[in-house]
Amino acid sequence: MQNKRDDIDRIKASLSITEVATALGIQVQRGKFKCLYPMRHAHGDRTPSVSISEEKGLFTCWVCEDMRGDVIELVKQARSCSFLEAIEWLKTEFLSQSQINGLSSIKKIIAESDSIVTPKPPKPEIKPEERMKVVLSFLKRLSVVDGTPAARWLVSRRVFKPAWDKMRLRYISDYNALNKSLLSEFGLELLQKIGLYNDRGNLRYYKHPLIFPYLDEQVRSLFFQARTIDSSVVPKELNLKGEIPYPYNKPALNQKPGWVYLCEGVVDTLTLISRNIEAVGVPGVKSFKPEWVHLFAQKKVVLCFDQDEPGREATKYVQSLFERAQIYSVPLGHGIEDEDLKMKEGQDINDWFNQRK
Ligand SMILES: [Zn+2]
Repeated sequence: MQNKRDDIDRIKASLSITEVATALGIQVQRGKFKCLYPMRHAHGDRTPSVSISEEKGLFTCWVCEDMRGDVIELVKQARSCSFLEAIEWLKTEFLSQSQINGLSSIKKIIAESDSIVTPKPPKPEIKPEERMKVVLSFLKRLSVVDGTPAARWLVSRRVFKPAWDKMRLRYISDYNALNKSLLSEFGLELLQKIGLYNDRGNLRYYKHPLIFPYLDEQVRSLFFQARTIDSSVVPKELNLKGEIPYPYNKPALNQKPGWVYLCEGVVDTLTLISRNIEAVGVPGVKSFKPEWVHLFAQKKVVLCFDQDEPGREATKYVQSLFERAQIYSVPLGHGIEDEDLKMKEGQDINDWFNQRK
C-alpha cells in the first residue's frame, strides 16, 4: 500500500496542474478557470470560480463543494472517469516511458484494473421546476412559529415576532404526519433526490424543526435552512441539498442606494432584521459566491462575519470581490474608536448585540 501511495505522489509531483488542465481542454487564465459545473453558477460562471495552486498542485471551486482536489481529481472530474482511468490517461499523456518504468506498483494497479473499470452512469438530474414544486409544497405544510418551542428559542436570541412574520419562519410541529403526507404525495425516490429524505427513508429534519425559508423578491423560497433548537444536536443547521441560489433575505438587495449588513448565518441576520437593520446572510463564511456581487449594486456593505480566523479571512476575500466591482464595503466596527464597542475575539453578531442590554 505504502508503495502505491509513493508512486501516486511521484506522479503528482512530476506534473503541472495547469498543464494538465490545459491538456484537458480547460482554459486557464491567471491561475483561474471556469467551473466544470457552470449550471451551478449564475451566468454559467462567466467570472471563473475555480482557482489553481500550482505550488500545491490543487484546484478549488469557491462554490461547488465537490469541485476541488488534486491533479488526479481534476482528470476524474473533467473526463468523468474513475481514479484508475485518470491515472491511465495521465500516464499516456504526460509520463515518459522511463518514468512509467519507475512506477512499479501503479503499473500493477493499472494492469489489474483493466477488467474492472467501467464508465460511471450519468447522474439523473431533477428539473428545477420539479424541485421547486416539492420545496414549496413542503413549506406550505409547516406551522408558523408562534406558540411553538421555537418561538421561545428565537426570543432568547432576541429575534422577535415582526422578523418571524416578515421572513416567514416555519416550524415542524407534527413530524410524523408531515413525513407521511410528503411520502404519499411525492414518493421516496424524488424526495431523496431532492435531499429532503435520508437513506433510511425519513424526512431529514427530525431534530431540526425550525425552518428558515430563503425568500426571493416574489416572496417564494427555492431554498431553506433547517435549524435545531436543542443545543446538544450537531450540526446546528442543515441546508437543503444543492446550490444555494442567493443570499438569505435577498429582497433587501433591492438595487437602491443604502447600507446593507452581510452576516454569517441566518440567526445573525434575523437579529439585525429584528432591529430594523437591512441585513442579508450567507449560511457560512465560505458560501459567499462571486456571482452574488452584482446583487449588491448600489449598496454599501458592512461585513459582519464572526470575529475569528475564518471570519477574518472571509472578510478579506469578500472585500476584494466587492472592491473589484467598485462596491464600497467595510468590516463591522471599522472606524469605531471605543474598544468596548467592537466585537471581541470569538464573538458573532448575536453575542455582540445581546451583551449590550
Ligand atoms: Zn463550481
